[in-house]
Amino acid sequence: MKNKIILVIVAALILLLCVGGLIPCGIKFIFGIPCPTCGITRAYLSLFKGDIGSAFLYHPLFWALPAAFIGAGLANKKAVKQAILVSCGILFIAVYIIRMITLFPDVPPMDFSHNAILIWIIERIF
Ligand SMILES: [Zn+2]
Repeated sequence: MKNKIILVIVAALILLLCVGGLIPCGIKFIFGIPCPTCGITRAYLSLFKGDIGSAFLYHPLFWALPAAFIGAGLANKKAVKQAILVSCGILFIAVYIIRMITLFPDVPPMDFSHNAILIWIIERIF
């Protein structure tokens, strides 16, 4: 029971940090390409403003992270917890591939960042 409470608290803290914009996307900052969770902060901000449509546009799986953490936190068997988290991961990767095919590189939050560190380095070398 203690582990479940800790898991729920950690999930809530991560969610708050993301929503507060305190955790930037390191993948996009370094490589210039969006990660599977890009847009989720803006999705939660839209959700908290009551704009569910924009939340789905920013990230169609914004609801899946808290649902997976709560479900895994409440599950009694380790295999069920793992199945929930692995399923969530697979879902995020599948949606990421679809978003990269349909939105990358022009539509935010799946846009390409020309200010990425790797791009900066490559421009100075070549
Ligand atoms: Zn990202």
